[in-house]
Amino acid sequence: MANTLIAGGGIGGLAAALSIAREGNRVTVLERGDRFAELGAGIQLAPNAFRALDLLGVGDQVRERAVFIDELRFMDGTTGHRVAGLPLTGTYRERFGNPYAVVARGDLYQPLLDACRADSRIELLPGQAVTGYELSQDHGVTGCGQAPGKVLALTEDGPFEADFLIGADGIRSAVRARMVGDGRPRVSGHTIYRSVIPMDRVPEELRWNVVTLWAGPKWHFVHYPIGGGAFLNLAATRDDGATREVAGEPVARDHVQNEFPDLSDTARALLALGDEWRTWVLCDRDPVNTWTDGRVALLGDAAHPMLQYAAQGACTALEDAVVLGGVFPDLDTYAELRRERTAKATRAARWLGEQLYHPAGDAARNRNSMLAGLSEQDLHDHVAWLHAYNTERIPSDAVR
Ligand SMILES: Cc1cc2nc3c(=O)[nH]c(=O)nc-3n(C[C@H](O)[C@H](O)[C@H](O)COP(=O)(O)OP(=O)(O)OC[C@H]3O[C@@H](n4cnc5c(N)ncnc54)[C@H](O)[C@@H]3O)c2cc1C
Repeated sequence: MANTLIAGGGIGGLAAALSIAREGNRVTVLERGDRFAELGAGIQLAPNAFRALDLLGVGDQVRERAVFIDELRFMDGTTGHRVAGLPLTGTYRERFGNPYAVVARGDLYQPLLDACRADSRIELLPGQAVTGYELSQDHGVTGCGQAPGKVLALTEDGPFEADFLIGADGIRSAVRARMVGDGRPRVSGHTIYRSVIPMDRVPEELRWNVVTLWAGPKWHFVHYPIGGGAFLNLAATRDDGATREVAGEPVARDHVQNEFPDLSDTARALLALGDEWRTWVLCDRDPVNTWTDGRVALLGDAAHPMLQYAAQGACTALEDAVVLGGVFPDLDTYAELRRERTAKATRAARWLGEQLYHPAGDAARNRNSMLAGLSEQDLHDHVAWLHAYNTERIPSDAVR
């Protein structure tokens, strides 16, 4: 039985805690915030996420509050015309073995938190910001005085000692800073505005059970139902060349409306319903090979922060957790199993932004004809590598 520290109690950190504890280990989660909570709006979960959630034992609880949508719908945001739709029922579910759903973040996080609280091997410690770590040599005692073959997670309250440390502390990870040292994240120059409104404010004829994406020149607007269908999640993004990192600042309603002057009528009407908007400037990082340092490994956004355009950051963090538990404590095999897939997802997310969501003029027209020409099977083939995680690569003993 190993003692493991996890820096960060987000979706990835809690999923990793469950996965490692299920292998019979003790886990302590050190969370910087003063409580364990996931704020924010909606999140899309593809079948690969449900596969992981089932393996973690919380799939049914997440399904209870999820909205199982019928289609990923792609609209031309300036003409208002439907370009294409990727069906998510029927053959999609048969092929991928799980639904595609949208949930409020809290409806994904709470089942993970409840499961951690119910497991006596997991300790949750809020108010503990990890600032770095120290590794002891496998022989002898280090200058820090810790036992050989151990790792110290450093915090302002003093060090925590364990056999292993997992850095699940997000895109600005202190564990990654110590291990990889690749500085601040890359600022994409894309600003996102987010709002969640009660569904009863939305005209009946616009209450679609789909994820809708309106694409325009250097902008796109996405909306979908969450909270069992009681709310509509709105997210409008603009490639405005922003250079400053911004996270969750309130922004005026008029400002958001004025940022999307070319929106066609229906999309404009939906955007106008939003209020209490908040804004972020989106960041990611280039994929790196270094995910481990002896007894320390990275997971989730700390390892592979990606733009949200493929809607896979949390889904792949859940996959990481399952794979890590399956091979634990072989951190190098975990990294080997995860690096290539998550790097591909990171690049795919950038590609989607550049090539599908934001083109203008002829490039937008070519995109529309290309998408309109794809059959249902073509569309499913395009997402198969991402949505149907090849579970053979999750070691069989991870499947319980
Ligand atoms: C606008 C937007 C939309 C998105 N939509 C989707 C989507 O539809 N589908 C999807 O799969 N993904 C989506 N994502 C990505 C997803 O939100 C992230 O990939 C996911 O939350 C990563 O989880 P994580 O636990 O690795 O990191 P985080 O969620 O960042 O959690 C890190 C945790 O660590 C804590 N922490 C930070 N530093 C320290 C420290 N030094 N010491 C201790 N604790 C620390 C933080 O407080 C936090 O609790 C979206 C992201 C954005 C920005």
